[in-house]
Amino acid sequence: MVVDASFVIHIPSNLYQEMVEHVRAGYPDETCGALGSVDERVVKNYPTANVAEHPDDFSIISESDMVRIYNDIDTYDGDLIYYHSHPITEAYPSARDIEYARRSGYLYIIFSHRHHPDDPYARVFKIDPQGSVTEGEIAID
Ligand SMILES: [Zn+2]
Repeated sequence: MVVDASFVIHIPSNLYQEMVEHVRAGYPDETCGALGSVDERVVKNYPTANVAEHPDDFSIISESDMVRIYNDIDTYDGDLIYYHSHPITEAYPSARDIEYARRSGYLYIIFSHRHHPDDPYARVFKIDPQGSVTEGEIAID
């Protein structure tokens, strides 16, 4: 029997609002960024540019941004969470997202603009090395 390994990520509402504004500003392209977390609590937001060749279809953070973010997260011994938006589709990992996530090991927060012009909404996922997806809960507080 598989036990549902559910988890909760806490995001302070001011940081969540920053993320929403960042992904709204990137619409209709995919927008991306990273978060630094400590003990399942987001402590810092790193909005970045999307350097994917087709930014309407995928998102990639540049190597130099990643190095900068890693170095900063190291200073408080945090974990990196990757976030990006889907302009049209559900806030659920695409096949390509799963491929990247299972290799990187990051938690994935995905926004969807399905209800645009309403605010995008977000869901959080853990993707294991075999590619199985577990959804967690986002607590905005
Ligand atoms: Zn995606």
